[in-house]
Amino acid sequence: MSNTKAYAAFSAKEALKPYEFDRRDLHEDDVKIEIAYCGVCHSDIHFAHNDWGMTQYPVVPGHEIIGRVTEVGPGVTRFKEGDLVGVGCMVDSCGECSSCKEDEEQFCEKGMVMTYGSPDPVMGGVTHGGYSTQIVVKDPFVLKVSENLDTKAVAPLLCAGITTYSPLSQWKVGKGQKVGIIGLGGLGHMGVKFAAAMGADVVMITTSPEKGDDARRLGANDVLVSKDPEQMKAHEGTFDFLLNTVPVAHDINPYIPLLKNNKTMVLVGATPVDLHSMGLIFGRKHISGSLIGGIKETQEMLDFCAKHNIVSDVEMIPIQDINTAYDRVMKSDVKYRFVIDMSSLKS
Ligand code: NAP
Ligand code: ZN
Repeated sequence: MSNTKAYAAFSAKEALKPYEFDRRDLHEDDVKIEIAYCGVCHSDIHFAHNDWGMTQYPVVPGHEIIGRVTEVGPGVTRFKEGDLVGVGCMVDSCGECSSCKEDEEQFCEKGMVMTYGSPDPVMGGVTHGGYSTQIVVKDPFVLKVSENLDTKAVAPLLCAGITTYSPLSQWKVGKGQKVGIIGLGGLGHMGVKFAAAMGADVVMITTSPEKGDDARRLGANDVLVSKDPEQMKAHEGTFDFLLNTVPVAHDINPYIPLLKNNKTMVLVGATPVDLHSMGLIFGRKHISGSLIGGIKETQEMLDFCAKHNIVSDVEMIPIQDINTAYDRVMKSDVKYRFVIDMSSLKS
C-alpha cells in the first residue's frame, strides 16, 4: 500500500483539511497515476456539504483528474509509465449488466463505483478522489489524454466536459438549431464551447449580465438574461434544445416557454426543481436528465477536444486555497473552473 497525502472534508460544516490514507497495491489490471491537476466541480461541494444525504466522512473529493502513469499491473497493455492520462467520475462497474455492455457504465445496474464516496470494493471504506497526490484505477476506467492540449485545462473535461458533451451529442445538436445553455459556470462554459463547435446557434442564458462578454468569447451568438421577463418573452418558442446546469433548487417553469413544440430541456444540475406540468402539456415539450457519460463516450469527447482544440478556461489554485474556491463557486464567482495544482500538496 502507498501512503497518500490529500485534502478531505470531515463534516458538512467544517473547512476541508489535510488528510492521509493508503492507496491499494497494484492488481493485475491496475494503473497507478501521479496526479498533476484536479478540477473543482460543484458536485465536490454538494458532496462535502452532504447536500445529497449520502456522504460518508472523511471524503476526499475530486473527479476531474489528470496525471502521469507511474506504474502498471502485469496485465496492463494500453498504458505504460509516463503516459498522460485522465480519470473522471467513475473507477469501476460490474461490466456484465446491459448498461455496462452498452458502454453506459454510469448506469450500471449494480451501481457504478464513483471516484470518491462510493463503497470501495477493494479496500473497504469509501473511495477517495483526486484532491490527493496519487490514485490507483483499473485500466478500463483510465482515459488517454492528448499531449497537444494545455494539460491543466484538460482536467475539467473529465466531468464538466463529458456531462455537457453527452446530452448535446445524444440529442444531436448541430447546425441550424438554436441551443440555450443555462448557467455560465464550469459545466455551462463547456456547454457553450461544445454546442458552438457542433455548429449550433448558441444562446447563453444567465443570471449574471456581466458574464455576457465572456459568453460571446466562449462561442455564444447571443446572451439572454433570465431575470429579465422582457428578454425571456422575446425568445419564447424559439429554442430547439436547452441544457440546464443550475446547481441550486430553482423554478424551471420560466424556461419551458422558450422551447419550440416537441423540444427538450435536459437537466444536469443535481438539485430539486419546481415544475408545473401545464408548460409541458401545451406543446408536448420534454424534460430529461443526463448523467456524465460512459467511458467510450468520454474518450470520444477527449478526442473531439483534441481535434477541435477545446479545453476549459481555468483559474489555478494551490490546494491550500480550496475552501476559498468553494466559497467563490457558491457565489457563481468562477471563471470558469478552478483547477488545483496538485504539486502544492507536496509542499
Ligand atoms: P458552477 O460552476 O457553480 O456553475 C453553475 C452556474 O449556475 C453558476 O455559475 C450560475 O451561472 C448559475 N446559477 C447559480 N445559481 C443560480 C440560480 N439560483 N439561478 C439560476 N442560475 C444559477 O457549477 P457546475 O460545476 O457547473 O455544476 C452545475 C451542477 O451540475 C451542479 O449541481 C453539479 O453537481 C451538477 N453536475 C451534474 C453532473 C451530471 O452528470 N448530471 C455532472 C457534474 C456536475 P450564471 O451566473 O451564468 O447564472
Ligand atoms: Zn463533476
